Amino acid sequence: MASEPKRVVIIGAGHNGLVAAFYLAKAGFPTLVLEQREVAGGTAVTEEIHPGFRCPTVMHAIGPLLPPIAREMQLDKQGLEVMKQDIRTIVLDPRGKHLRIYEEPQQTAAELTQLSKHDSGKYLEFHATFDKLGRAIAPLLSMTPPGVDHLAAKDYLNLGRLALNFRSLPKRDAYHLLRWAPMPVADLAAEWFETELLRAAIEARGIFGVFAGPWSAGTSTGLLMQAAAGFTHSGESSESDRGSARERRRNCRQCNFVQCGPAADVPQTGRRGRSGPRIPCEDSLLPVRRDCG
Ligand SMILES: Cc1cc2nc3c(=O)[nH]c(=O)nc-3n(C[C@H](O)[C@H](O)[C@H](O)COP(=O)(O)OP(=O)(O)OC[C@H]3O[C@@H](n4cnc5c(N)ncnc54)[C@H](O)[C@@H]3O)c2cc1C
Repeated sequence: MASEPKRVVIIGAGHNGLVAAFYLAKAGFPTLVLEQREVAGGTAVTEEIHPGFRCPTVMHAIGPLLPPIAREMQLDKQGLEVMKQDIRTIVLDPRGKHLRIYEEPQQTAAELTQLSKHDSGKYLEFHATFDKLGRAIAPLLSMTPPGVDHLAAKDYLNLGRLALNFRSLPKRDAYHLLRWAPMPVADLAAEWFETELLRAAIEARGIFGVFAGPWSAGTSTGLLMQAAAGFTHSGESSESDRGSARERRRNCRQCNFVQCGPAADVPQTGRRGRSGPRIPCEDSLLPVRRDCG
């Protein structure tokens, strides 16, 4: 007789917990997500910070949310809206010569003419080069790292795919990739551009989310990975609407997917340490309905 599938409890309905729960449930494991807050979404939730002012309270930019996952989870139907801004960032200058980096590279190049004709001319080439390199290394973001001692067939396939991508790069770009990856991002930016504001914007992108400064070795890899992420999602800001989250939770409740309240008998790891109704895990371990989404 086939044994019953193991029941799974996930503590915390942040996006990682929700994605893991979705795939576990899809694979046939009765899955329950416990969330201490009233809304699901963790740091990706948009909240009102002042009457009438709403913003993502922690995560201001969406990480590489892989489109196949977003599609499979039907996140658009669940109310997720990714906001794409025309202006990606503004670099402020005390003398007022601010630089806007646009979603459209042509617009950035046009704006750069006021600061440096040289940089304006180089910007499109820079953008195109990083597009190519990002596309080549994009599989790194979603592949399971290969086993160290024993490579499985899938590891060979993944590595082969990467090697093919690398081989398909023009020789000059392939050399660029090998040369730039270990470099400090400040050196890389200085090789391309003379405008300090532009260099600062590029350097900031290289050190995004890492404990390193622009002169730290290897920070150009951060820039390359950001370029790779451009091929996994299209958008910078995240919007996980509170109303939609509530609705999503209501929908999920119907299938006992997300239960709100701190997990019973589990030490509080939440930052706020709020006390709330304690949900006995055993009572709420109901199988997830497959149509939960
Ligand atoms: C200041 C800051 C800024 C950041 N900016 C970005 C950014 O711009 N872009 C980006 O991609 N990443 C950003 N990150 C990183 C990002 O927030 C994390 O990578 C992401 O939140 C991890 O998601 P998660 O689902 O694992 O956890 P979380 O989003 O933290 O979710 C955990 C969930 O578990 C719940 N929980 C915890 N303990 C319990 C318990 N005992 N019982 C029930 N529920 C519990 C919490 O309430 C929460 O809902 C930032 C992080 C910080 C700290």
